[in-house]
Amino acid sequence: MIEFRNERVASEWAEAIDNGRLIVPVVLWADALAVSLGAPGITLTNILRTPQEQIDLCRQMGVEPYRSVHEFWRGVDFSCAGLSDTMTEIIGGVNLMYRYGGTFVVAAYHSAGTAPHVHLQVPNGSVWRV
Ligand SMILES: [Zn+2]
Repeated sequence: MIEFRNERVASEWAEAIDNGRLIVPVVLWADALAVSLGAPGITLTNILRTPQEQIDLCRQMGVEPYRSVHEFWRGVDFSCAGLSDTMTEIIGGVNLMYRYGGTFVVAAYHSAGTAPHVHLQVPNGSVWRV
């Protein structure tokens, strides 16, 4: 079951579904993998980031500002409480199912500068919805 770090993330998730964002099926797959591995599910911690938030984050990390997929509805971060090994299996399972293209991966583990989380990213595109 998908949980949310706060109301903002919950609201952005609902908007992503309404707009057929390509990240949606990837998040659902990650959550299904978590449940199949015995976890209650994943907690979405970050979806959309404003350009200013991205610049501020880069400054916090001490790197030159760069554009992020989070500015374009193409990135989602999640955690899975107490299951660092499972996160590895989730990452492997997501990358088996979905390919980004080129040298990029869809799912990656991030720990630098923030709480450990999985970063999901997708190329441009949308999903068909009824
Ligand atoms: Zn991210």
